[in-house]
Amino acid sequence: MGDYAIGIDLGGTKVEACLVDETRRILARRRRPSEPALGREKVVANILELVAETARGVPYGAVGMGTPGTYSAADDIMYGAPHTPLYEKPGLVNLLGSKLSVPLVIENDANCLALAEYFAQCHGRVSTVMAVILGTGMGAGLILGGRLHRGPHGNAGEIGHMSIAIDGRPCECGRRGCGEAYLSGPSLSRRYAELAGESVPPEKLFERFEAGDPHARRVFDESVRIMGELFANCVNALDLEAIILGGGVSNIPLWSEKVPPVMNGLLFGTPGRTIPILKAVLGDSAGVLGAAYLALREMKIMEF
Ligand SMILES: [Zn+2]
Repeated sequence: MGDYAIGIDLGGTKVEACLVDETRRILARRRRPSEPALGREKVVANILELVAETARGVPYGAVGMGTPGTYSAADDIMYGAPHTPLYEKPGLVNLLGSKLSVPLVIENDANCLALAEYFAQCHGRVSTVMAVILGTGMGAGLILGGRLHRGPHGNAGEIGHMSIAIDGRPCECGRRGCGEAYLSGPSLSRRYAELAGESVPPEKLFERFEAGDPHARRVFDESVRIMGELFANCVNALDLEAIILGGGVSNIPLWSEKVPPVMNGLLFGTPGRTIPILKAVLGDSAGVLGAAYLALREMKIMEF
């Protein structure tokens, strides 16, 4: 086996793969539709073809795959990602893993993003970091003391379903007051519609804010406070040194500037800490790169 690894990012509609070397450099990157409507055998066949196309004969030592949901090795099922037939059925690793001649490691996609962004922005400087994905939902990956913390069931980092208001807004998960029910893209739009009587997609809300729209301003004022409270809870629980913010809603430039003063004012313990909120820098490469890092770890080339 050479010192090469494959990373796969399997989403609801597309699958992406990259080939990396032992220095974490991307040598090739390809994507194609995952075609979940055609069944999981077809999805697996698509993944295998994509891997072959990406590797082009280069011998790789392991494959890492990031995907929404939580993989349970005990029953070989993906939990919590109901949108494709690949999930919630036994046999994901058996089916894909049996057709690969190297080890396959599966991890939640937020954890893959956290790994990639951590190595891009924090490794060597700070070691305890939370990377948040804020888009249609809200989740996070945790690097604690330089190690990926997935928890015994792989459920660590579900901060979108931490309640910040016990009688607050209902969340899709069944609880009330979850961070996701206020801060996800659809939640921001919903709040704006409540105030303005008009539905506007989240990416347009910031334009309205900048144009002086008072309703958009109120949505962001509320959201900054809520995000500050939620992130302060996380810092207090985990003694984080930095927070990385990625996902579609993170493109709104307001968060990294406005949230830290709120959050840092709510911290408990050692005074004078200023925890930064860093914007994710890898864009849509983060998932596939973090997945490749899992493979490099499997090959004992990386440690985390
Ligand atoms: Zn929830």
